[in-house]
Amino acid sequence: MAPKHQAPRGTRDLLPDELDRWQWAEARAREVLARYGYREIRTPMFEDYELFTRTSGEASEVVQKEMYRFTDLGKRELALRPENTAGVCRAYIEHGLGGRARIHRLWYLGPMFRYGRPQKGRYRQFQQAGAELIGTPAPGADVEMISLFVDLFEAWGFRDLVVAMNSVGTPASRRTYGDALRAWLAPARSRLSADSQRRLEVNPLRVLDSRDDADLALFHDDALGTMPRMLDHLDVESRVHWDAVLAGLETLAIRCEVDHGLVRGLDYYTRTAFELHDRSLGAQSALGGGGRYDGLIEELGGPPTPGVGFSIGLDRVLMVLEQRGEGAPVPAGSVFVVAMDATRVEATRLTHELRREFAVEQDIESRGFGAQMKSAGKSGARVALILGEDEWQRGEVGLKDLATGEQRTVARDALAQYLRGMLGSAAEPAAGRGA
Ligand code: AMP
Repeated sequence: MAPKHQAPRGTRDLLPDELDRWQWAEARAREVLARYGYREIRTPMFEDYELFTRTSGEASEVVQKEMYRFTDLGKRELALRPENTAGVCRAYIEHGLGGRARIHRLWYLGPMFRYGRPQKGRYRQFQQAGAELIGTPAPGADVEMISLFVDLFEAWGFRDLVVAMNSVGTPASRRTYGDALRAWLAPARSRLSADSQRRLEVNPLRVLDSRDDADLALFHDDALGTMPRMLDHLDVESRVHWDAVLAGLETLAIRCEVDHGLVRGLDYYTRTAFELHDRSLGAQSALGGGGRYDGLIEELGGPPTPGVGFSIGLDRVLMVLEQRGEGAPVPAGSVFVVAMDATRVEATRLTHELRREFAVEQDIESRGFGAQMKSAGKSGARVALILGEDEWQRGEVGLKDLATGEQRTVARDALAQYLRGMLGSAAEPAAGRGA
């Protein structure tokens, strides 16, 4: 019989076994972000609906079809965030961060919501980790972002990465390019999907994000000739910027390849756009992407402030890590306290005390010695502490190394020191733990 309640379509539960790997990945990300000098920002999971229409663009897939929009009891028009750059920029303006320092390096991690058709690698609630570098138009910022982006993937064990890159120019150069796209697609207009025909009028670049198979086939139709390229329609400054970014990436030996069809799904991007794909994931292969958004903060009513950022889909990253069997943390060294009838109270007290420093389990059902030893074996603990009555009275504890089977007695007073030597402490993790 199906359970009465199930997680809503497109959402899922992450159970403890899976979360070990998630936490490992998040911890690695935090380390890398800290080394680059980025600081965390947390913004609300819902914002004014209009924040997203103004930034992502009315014609974007996200706004047209994927928004979790709702009216609250106070009649406010709100939406669950489909992405977080808009929220971060809203907070940047609201708190006058631009007045506190010229450049801000920020990161976030949290759930985003999009009402798409659920499938492998695509959920309605999914987790993104992202970073934003706000306050400078310098190409060096784009290079830092892409290098951080690649370093995060390397910290998760990805190798031989090639970043797909393009420039989407400025709004003005994009208009020229849009006209070229429109002219190119004109002979095939009637063969485009209804959505793409509409987008061709409103925002021709969005046609390139189409997921419709017939549209995709058309882009490669020889009869139309080669698709016009954004890079051929760039204004001079965007071209200079593009060349400088590529030169910067070359200096760092970061591999990239130009993808002329890459326009990113949201309207706020300017100049640099980049993405990383893993083809083993099938249709939903994008692991992350980002780009420059020089007009976004001004569009939201802030002072003209350039920015560049990216976001990474952690669900997909974790899917790849799991496929490869990578990233599972070594379980923390832990202790199982085994009591006799006469030492149960002392065992509880000892467990309580040791938990200030170590991961400790204890039998809470007053079961017999054999059952407790069996649980200790199954628990994955490294050590069983056996509180025999005689030993305890002598000020000693029996200690069994569950990995080697070796047994010894240790003086009660020296116990914490001894465990520290064997396991490392919570404050000072054992080598290899969580690595
Ligand atoms: P985007 O801003 O749309 O490029 O999203 C950044 C990354 O988030 C993508 O590259 C994906 O890895 C991930 N992502 C986007 N939408 C979803 C989704 N519905 N389910 C899971 N991951 C997603």
